[in-house]
Amino acid sequence: MNGGYTGQILVVDLKNKKTIIEKTNLNDAKNFIGAKGLGAKYLIDHLPKDTDPLSSDNILLFTTGPLTGTSAQTSGRGTVVTKSPLTGLFVDSHFGGVFANEMKKAGWDFIVIKGKSKTPTYLYINNDQVEFKNAEELIEMECLKTHEWLQANEGKVKTAVIGPAGENLVRIACITIDGHRHAGRGGTGAVMGSKNLKAIALLGSGKIKLYDDEGFKNKSKEVRKQIQDNSFVPVRRKYGTPFWVDKINKEGFIPTRNFSEGFFEHGNKINAETMQKQIVDGGGACYNCIIACWNKSSIKKGPFKGTTLIGPEYETIALMGSNLGLKSIEEVAYICDRCNELGMDTISMGGILGFSVEAYNKKVISKSDMNGIDIGWGKTTELAKFMTDIAHRKTKLAKLLGEGVKTASEKLKAESFAIHCKGMDIPGYDPRGTFGMGLAYATSDRGACHQRAWTVNAELKDPELERFSFEKKAKIVKDVQDERAAFFSLVLCDFAPISVDNCVEMWNLATGFNHTVESYLMCGERIWNLIRLFNLRESLKPNSDVLPERLFIEPFTKGPAKDIVLTKDGFEKALQEYYMLRVWDEKGVPTKNKLKKLGLEKYQI
Ligand code: SF4
Repeated sequence: MNGGYTGQILVVDLKNKKTIIEKTNLNDAKNFIGAKGLGAKYLIDHLPKDTDPLSSDNILLFTTGPLTGTSAQTSGRGTVVTKSPLTGLFVDSHFGGVFANEMKKAGWDFIVIKGKSKTPTYLYINNDQVEFKNAEELIEMECLKTHEWLQANEGKVKTAVIGPAGENLVRIACITIDGHRHAGRGGTGAVMGSKNLKAIALLGSGKIKLYDDEGFKNKSKEVRKQIQDNSFVPVRRKYGTPFWVDKINKEGFIPTRNFSEGFFEHGNKINAETMQKQIVDGGGACYNCIIACWNKSSIKKGPFKGTTLIGPEYETIALMGSNLGLKSIEEVAYICDRCNELGMDTISMGGILGFSVEAYNKKVISKSDMNGIDIGWGKTTELAKFMTDIAHRKTKLAKLLGEGVKTASEKLKAESFAIHCKGMDIPGYDPRGTFGMGLAYATSDRGACHQRAWTVNAELKDPELERFSFEKKAKIVKDVQDERAAFFSLVLCDFAPISVDNCVEMWNLATGFNHTVESYLMCGERIWNLIRLFNLRESLKPNSDVLPERLFIEPFTKGPAKDIVLTKDGFEKALQEYYMLRVWDEKGVPTKNKLKKLGLEKYQI
């Protein structure tokens, strides 16, 4: 073992309460890097085709990458990989905090959870010592409380926990890391719940070995300096992601009232300045990060006074703020905190609640379906109550919505206003404002995701690009997806301005590999293709790279994107161009030639 990887995978069999140690496949590591990529390789090789994501046969991977826990900036990141119960496809859900760093120090590249425990359990992992512990006392306990209970009972452990929503198999349940960070998307928390695993409490005290210690130290110092000198870093530190609220609202494409508009007239009440003035008390950071983008907040007035949280982030403000018509940052912070504590993805919950209000207004669902709760735009208390019912799957309707917006809208015959791609709710950038995001969502590997190819900045700034057009977007989307697939495999934070050259150099110095920029980007492309093959092997049908109809037929009535809709012809043309650039066939299936070039022939469909 040269370095970067610990070389060991901890496999936990919950059914038999046993563990085994597997060796990390270093040949695979050269080609799939770590975290997202190496996790995808492990999943496709070990998960039987057509496994029900909520059955005991699904496997849940906590993964790290070769740069996790090193002196590289933002190296406290890890990734949960599994088959998603929300989409039936691959999902990788990334998280910050300290847990991933500690996991690597405990000696594990991956922790793989298999089987299902008969009784509620939590795992206590202290380096190579693993104990299966009784979690009866933690049942229905919310996320932060569970984290605090574990720290009170097990010492200064790092934690991964689920809340009531995960226990109740709500398909948008998340895994909460170290009390405040989240592996948010795709229902990873429901997979953990389906295994009767309430939490992992972890301690690690080993040293992470690197191939060239001195070289790595110097390089990471140099990169640190570049981050420090980056002109956007102080803005990110001061405001965090809420910086984007004003920008996206002014440009007219912030999700508003279930994506029926793109400009929110109360935007100034939920933007970053208001948030700083009214609720933010200070900042904070994940492990080894000088960007320090957290907002530590508390509500100081009104009915929700006393609520404390880290956040809310931009995506939450967009999906649970403007998208639900909430008119104050306190209300957004409150509903965000409730969603976090129940253990659900705030983006998808914003999508589900937006859909529900529209369904209620259109009389598709009634007050009696909601146990008498009278939901509506801007009705924070009622929406929070209804959300709690969904987390606990209290009523027939709450149960149905807990299956995700796709399933619910199909059952309710209300698909026309269900805003998702492949079952995953669309995040905070309505594609009618920057068409490239439409292509990015439609082709994303885990359903609608903004992190795979975030084209917003380029489309708003680059004079060569027309924001209300699909022209020239296919190549950008494809290239960014490949680059991000590699980056999320190292694994560093999306917000860190680190060049591709520096990523490759750090990977080589950590591991002793001899990768070039080209071979690194090819790893990203290989990872992207492997995940496409996994998705095709599972439930993805050809011609599924589509967008919600609303985006093609309903224009906004105000703001800079007024009267704009996506063009069907433009989208279809861009999609075919994207497939061509990927060397996939016209239905989006990777060709034999491409797979041969990437060394993936054996996975051909
Ligand atoms: S930039 Fe923010 S989210 Fe990313 S590692 Fe730093 S503190 Fe965590």
